[in-house]
Amino acid sequence: MAFLPLIKLLDINMKQKIKPCYCEEDIPESIKIGYRDYKLEKWKQTVASANEAQGQFFAKEGVIGYTADETGVSHANTLIHEMLHAIIYQWNMELDEKVEELVVNGLANGLTTIFVDNPKLMGYLKNKILEG
Ligand SMILES: [Zn+2]
Repeated sequence: MAFLPLIKLLDINMKQKIKPCYCEEDIPESIKIGYRDYKLEKWKQTVASANEAQGQFFAKEGVIGYTADETGVSHANTLIHEMLHAIIYQWNMELDEKVEELVVNGLANGLTTIFVDNPKLMGYLKNKILEG
């Protein structure tokens, strides 16, 4: 790399730091999917263990539930999983229940794996989306 005066290097650093990027660290109250906002509801352990699911999509109620104890990649995977159920519902894909679960599981696990294996990808996609 060619020599650059310090001020130029600082300028480059500043430009890199002000790249558009929303870095929300808290879970949003709701997620807009298609025409509707879906409320994100944290489940207590007792509710979660009753149906042995880490998450659930309630189409009519407009709710996506998730367990309080799940964290990290598993939690992200659960949210992606339930969002895919919502997409199938919102875009009237009308899949057989068993087929829907297979499709949602495969896509959620596949997407999660891609994001885990390519940690810079999500930031890149986020910036491209913010560019409009
Ligand atoms: Zn499912």
